[in-house]
Amino acid sequence: RKRNGHEPEFLQAVEEVAETVIPYIVKHDIYYGKNILLRMVEPERLISFRVSWVDDRGEIQVNRGYRVQMNSAIGPYKGGLRFHPTVNASILKFLAFEQVFKNSLTTLPMGGGKGGSDFDPKGKSDNEIMRFCHAFMSELFRYIGPNTDVPAGDIGVGTREIGFLFGMYKKLRNEFTGVLTGKGMSWGGSLIRPEATGYGNVYFAQKMLETKNDSIEGKNVIISGSGNVAQYAAEKVLQLGGKVLTLSDSSGYIVDEDGIDTDKLAFVMELKNVKRGRISEYVESYPNAKFVEGKTPWGEKCDVALPCATQNELQEDDAKTLLKNGCICVSEGANMPSTKAAIAAFHKAKILFAPGKASNAGGVATSGLEMTQNSLRFKWSREEVDSKLKEIMSDIHKSCTEYGKDDDGYVDYVKGANIAGFVKVADAMLAQGIV
Ligand code: NDP
Repeated sequence: RKRNGHEPEFLQAVEEVAETVIPYIVKHDIYYGKNILLRMVEPERLISFRVSWVDDRGEIQVNRGYRVQMNSAIGPYKGGLRFHPTVNASILKFLAFEQVFKNSLTTLPMGGGKGGSDFDPKGKSDNEIMRFCHAFMSELFRYIGPNTDVPAGDIGVGTREIGFLFGMYKKLRNEFTGVLTGKGMSWGGSLIRPEATGYGNVYFAQKMLETKNDSIEGKNVIISGSGNVAQYAAEKVLQLGGKVLTLSDSSGYIVDEDGIDTDKLAFVMELKNVKRGRISEYVESYPNAKFVEGKTPWGEKCDVALPCATQNELQEDDAKTLLKNGCICVSEGANMPSTKAAIAAFHKAKILFAPGKASNAGGVATSGLEMTQNSLRFKWSREEVDSKLKEIMSDIHKSCTEYGKDDDGYVDYVKGANIAGFVKVADAMLAQGIV
């Protein structure tokens, strides 16, 4: 706290882990007295660099770039790049810290990292995006590599940005390697990677519901966000027979009581991914729907809620409203979307609640599968990757249950994910000595 007091998001993420992991450490001699958590909260390396680029008017712009290399005990650093004006060291350290536990949970050999820039992609031309990505990679390339650190996408970084970043890395290093994941299908990408985080989140929700002999089928589902994770979470809910009522972006949310069906979702994907428009434009094409400006969707009645936009978007009051309206399952697609008080409310009500580090791990897991395919110079089919993704989500669910079951039988997935993720990394760190 003394060292990181000015980094609220990072402290929030660490406190959530510490509350569940410290009691476990105290009960297990192999971890006790080794300052293992203290070592885990200090990044192995935090790189910050200048990114200068020229906009379409010929003016020079300066942004700050970062890479947080948090922990490499079980594999090369792995984690996304975020381009958003709110990006700073605190946000990236929280994301990198969560990533260490998440990657450990996937069962794949990946350490944890995260990076990005305070660059705002909104309103920028394709050429400006390309120049920024090239400038960003002209510094980042020194610190990454297929066996060192393998970045991917996150908020504001999708296939288009990964393409520009990969192009510059390849030029500077003169090598074609799996240094980034989320690549296009014709140049090393894995099938199902674009879908993986959203699909994985719904697979996880389905696993939780199965413990109550229930399923997504027939459920009313509200989703926040309308980016990569939200879009594919919605697609999987529809495939499993659920009804999607809402989507959102930073300007507000839309609610469609008739349900956002496959055709309407295709409209949203075109709107967000190709036209790069706002979610409010949905109501121009579907006038039965309503746009609610400046609000999140948590006031809408639902059975299942999937927060898929950003950190701290679901607060205590929202949690109470969800519970009052009969919500039985919350599965996080975003990273740390629920505040600590919101999680406490879900736990008190003993509903099914999955933290992002478990339920959104499908994205990085499939990135891990992309790395394997790149190393093998081989490509698995859609069905093969999807079935591996399903198996991984099921394994994560199993680990959470193993470490998270309370005496009364309630599964605390936060405790389960934190301890299961911790054990593997801690064991590797202890085996490797004080480095
Ligand atoms: P995208 O950039 O594709 O979409 C982000 C969505 O969230 C957009 O609809 C955006 O709206 C909205 N959003 C962003 N910031 C805010 C804000 N401050 N308030 C309200 N809405 C906001 O990102 P992703 O879908 O990839 O990521 C969403 C979340 O999922 C993030 O927390 C990310 O860390 C997490 N995640 C992503 C993974 C992936 O594979 N992509 C993997 C694991 C986790 P607008 O367009 O208006 O900004």
